[in-house]
Amino acid sequence: MNSQTRNIQDVAIIGGGPGGLSAALVLGRALRKVTVIDEGKPRSRVTVKAHGFLTRDGVHPSEIREVAHEQMKAYENVQVVKDTVEIAEKIDGLFSLRTRKGEEFLSRRLIVATGMKDHLPKITGMEKVYGKTVFHCPYCDGWERKGEPLAIFGNGKGLMPFIKTIYNWSRDLIVFTNGPAALIDEEKRQLKQRGIDVMEEPILAIESTNGQMEQILLKDRGPVKRTSGFMVTTGETQASAIPSMLGVPLDERGQYETREHGQTSINGLFIIGDAKNTFTSIVGAASQGYEAGVALNHDLAAQDWENEKPV
Ligand SMILES: Cc1cc2nc3c(=O)[nH]c(=O)nc-3n(C[C@H](O)[C@H](O)[C@H](O)COP(=O)(O)OP(=O)(O)OC[C@H]3O[C@@H](n4cnc5c(N)ncnc54)[C@H](O)[C@@H]3O)c2cc1C
Repeated sequence: MNSQTRNIQDVAIIGGGPGGLSAALVLGRALRKVTVIDEGKPRSRVTVKAHGFLTRDGVHPSEIREVAHEQMKAYENVQVVKDTVEIAEKIDGLFSLRTRKGEEFLSRRLIVATGMKDHLPKITGMEKVYGKTVFHCPYCDGWERKGEPLAIFGNGKGLMPFIKTIYNWSRDLIVFTNGPAALIDEEKRQLKQRGIDVMEEPILAIESTNGQMEQILLKDRGPVKRTSGFMVTTGETQASAIPSMLGVPLDERGQYETREHGQTSINGLFIIGDAKNTFTSIVGAASQGYEAGVALNHDLAAQDWENEKPV
């Protein structure tokens, strides 16, 4: 057992995105001993600017992290460690974490804020444009593309509702299904009525320069000019299996089962942010971090009250 394990934390937080750091701030201010362990690879690192967080509109997510790290320095009871948690167990009521660098941490409570990982459709050139001119979240990047000729990439059950949403930002849409479209005749009729073409030919490549999409190359049809777009799904999966290791089930949407404030069926284990809701947004993850931090502090305060009964 090394020095870190003897030093039991009130709360360990895995993941230092807006969810984890927000929880760390509120718990730090509640005088709790907190360690945040963060690998530093958020899914949003591919983006150029983040939008929709009041007072932070248009900044890069890394800037929000840098400011958070700077402000966290005021709280000597909070430490942020750059490492990856590989193994988690619950032993005798304490959470035990082991990291890639060989450190061990013990804590009374655990917050998992490890986010999601994107697995983009296997289309040549898609990775070069994702986060630059092709996006998933219209609330994050729709305003900048309003009224533009847009491509919509995707197929399946989520396609039609997604088209209706994107139609709010632009009426000039072409849908690329990369194979036979899973649309019923009535849906095809509604799209045609609104002048929305559905191109079912296989996509050979997306051509771009420095992230700026230029055209979509289709088998047989050839190039189709579109300079930005949205995709129905990024094929996201959980970035970490830590909650599974501790016994939390994943539901059919790939989300860990949680209750109020992110509490799981494992006592003292909370899951917040994208790991809880797939795509939360920066302000949403930060809000969940605050909420979970307050709930955990109440819980710890009640336990401390019982354990420290005056004689
Ligand atoms: C391209 C793109 C653009 C976006 N644009 C916007 C936008 O404009 N506005 C907006 O509000 N939202 C935007 N989002 C969404 C937003 O980034 C996320 O919803 C938000 O960051 C989720 O926060 P989080 O704290 O849950 O997870 P994250 O920010 O993903 O942070 C999770 C952290 O946990 C770490 N981690 C994972 N596993 C481990 C482990 N085992 N050990 C240690 N650390 C680990 C990761 O490396 C990462 O640092 C965008 C997302 C993408 C992909």
